[in-house]
Amino acid sequence: MKKSNQKDIFHVHTYRCRHAANVADEMYVKKAIELGAVSITFTDHAPFPGNPFGNRMDIQQLPEYLQSFNSLKEKYQNVIEVKTGLEIEYLPGFQYYYECLKKSGQLDVMMIGQHFYEYADNSYNFSLPREELQKKEAGGLCKAVMAGMKTGLFQVIAHPDRMFRYCGSWDKGMEQMSEELIKTALKYDITLEQNLSSMKTADYYRHEFWDLVPVSSKTRIGIDAHEVNQLEEIEEYY
Ligand SMILES: [Zn+2]
Ligand SMILES: [Zn+2]
Repeated sequence: MKKSNQKDIFHVHTYRCRHAANVADEMYVKKAIELGAVSITFTDHAPFPGNPFGNRMDIQQLPEYLQSFNSLKEKYQNVIEVKTGLEIEYLPGFQYYYECLKKSGQLDVMMIGQHFYEYADNSYNFSLPREELQKKEAGGLCKAVMAGMKTGLFQVIAHPDRMFRYCGSWDKGMEQMSEELIKTALKYDITLEQNLSSMKTADYYRHEFWDLVPVSSKTRIGIDAHEVNQLEEIEEYY
């Protein structure tokens, strides 16, 4: 694990995603200041036009989400840097939407968090029977992340090693997928996130993946906080 002397709090969710604590955004900022952090980056689960997916804000809430951090940026400008981001799945059918988000100039970070993937016929893998979904998940997620990286629209990949959660023990195939992903991230100057939340769940965090990451790659710690006190976990890494 790389250590840094600047405490950056990265990957924080908000109440809008409907599975995080029901607290004001400012509470996270206050906690980050208390912990001596120099920055805090919010990356809530991104909405999509038409609200086709659950566990996230509605698209209608996006302007308010962005506005909230613009206010906090201003209010705390001399105390801590507040950054606005989104954690978002790369789904080729929404290419125009990612471009709009990028062009808006309102986001400091667009992070791929590939929790599911899209097929060419515009269906999604979460419709597959459980056993089939588990068998195909790693390959499908890897392909989607690779395609997303190549668009040049994203700066970070959240928990890249989580894609292997159903794969059991580490094998050659997983190593090849990892190497391809790591190589592509390096080529496109994309940061790989070591997710603290993944470390708490069996098979979500794969040290075999991180052992393949060269020192020239960009990596960073992400807390994946869904409540204010989780920000304290950053203490263990500084
Ligand atoms: Zn979440
Ligand atoms: Zn997250």
